[in-house]
Amino acid sequence: MRVLKMQKENLMVFLESIRGFGELWGVVDKGNRFVFDKLDDLSDYDFKPRKPMIPPKLFMHPPKFSMFRFNEKGYEAELEEIPNRVIFGVLPCDIHGLLILDRLFGAEPPDPYYMKRREKTIILGLSCVPGDTCLAKATNTHVVEEGFDLFFSDLDDYYLVWVGSSKGDDLVRVQPDLFEEKLEYKDLEKFIEWKKDRDSCYPVDFDFTAMPDIMELSYNSPVWEKIGEKCLACGSCTMVCPTCNCYDVVDRLALGKFEGIRERHWDSCMYKEYSMVAVGHNFREARSQRLKLWYTHKLQGFIGQFGKPSCVGCGRCVETCPVDINVVTVAKALKGEPVEAFWNR
Ligand code: SF4
Ligand code: SF4
Repeated sequence: MRVLKMQKENLMVFLESIRGFGELWGVVDKGNRFVFDKLDDLSDYDFKPRKPMIPPKLFMHPPKFSMFRFNEKGYEAELEEIPNRVIFGVLPCDIHGLLILDRLFGAEPPDPYYMKRREKTIILGLSCVPGDTCLAKATNTHVVEEGFDLFFSDLDDYYLVWVGSSKGDDLVRVQPDLFEEKLEYKDLEKFIEWKKDRDSCYPVDFDFTAMPDIMELSYNSPVWEKIGEKCLACGSCTMVCPTCNCYDVVDRLALGKFEGIRERHWDSCMYKEYSMVAVGHNFREARSQRLKLWYTHKLQGFIGQFGKPSCVGCGRCVETCPVDINVVTVAKALKGEPVEAFWNR
């Protein structure tokens, strides 16, 4: 992979120069939360790494969208409306989240709605500074080698820029004078030093490697009933998780005519209705059953299928769950470790 160097003052010039590739988006500070927003004016933007409340899955798998219009003559897909986008500041764990979604939505037959959006989205990754809830080192998702077009590692005075795709190469060619081709040995030393310092700051150290076996042995653990009693079934954990991707499909019909639109919107396996089938039977009526499904999927099922957990260690469930049910407290409880959490009081 090609690695270049960019002086910090060139980043804004570079982002301005690539606006022709699509709408420019980044993570902005909205006071009490960070969110993705369009960056129409870069003059006040500080280019710092921030973890948005909702991960970048929302670009490829939007919370709600129209799939196609239909009438008695047939249907017309709405794929033409999807804009080209350049997303700046995507963090390593969230790139891992997208790689997992690529696998799921890209499996045969590929999902055209996800794939089209993925194809039209340029990912500019940015190295992160671990926050209080980050567990990406434990899930080995604090570094990333694919899934981006360019990746910027912030070494204080300058960036090292990894070129991850031919699209990334095209971006560099817009103004190649903004990049330095020649790296020196001291750049490598600085990167190693930065990585050592950064890696020593992760607050959550947890060993997930034994979790598939622990999950298997914990099928009847009282922990499930205990967390099931406290869970509010609000679905927040699934909305913020970068790898959760359940959705529902509904038809909205025009009154008195045979025409309408088919929409897709996010759903959550934490909702009671999610597992309800014909004649009102529910396969997972109890909250404990729904929680068991979620954690089995994250920490066991995906590992069996793809060799790694479908938790990318972002820590969003840790920040979001109002009763402290999250990947760390649940995994610790199943391992028999002491847990300080609202649900365990
Ligand atoms: S399970 Fe929690 S920590 Fe893991 S990826 Fe999902 S939200 Fe992030
Ligand atoms: S585990 Fe927490 S965030 Fe998830 S549905 Fe239950 S209460 Fe809500």
